[in-house]
Amino acid sequence: MQVKVDLSKCEGHGRCYEQGEDVFACSDEGKCVILVAEVDSSNMEMLLQAEQAEMMCPVGAITVA
Ligand code: SF4
Repeated sequence: MQVKVDLSKCEGHGRCYEQGEDVFACSDEGKCVILVAEVDSSNMEMLLQAEQAEMMCPVGAITVA
């Protein structure tokens, strides 16, 4: 599954990289940086981090599909 972030929506709330440090990081501007752009069930931990970030992002900037 592909992990994407729409930086035009990202407001730097940080929920993605705070709970998903294997998949996301913080840019110098405090916005989301994707470290792992493709996740699947062979690595459940990363898949869960990506899916939780998608659910938790308050502006809907992350998609996992
Ligand atoms: S949780 Fe959403 S708004 Fe916050 S840094 Fe991550 S992508 Fe951006």
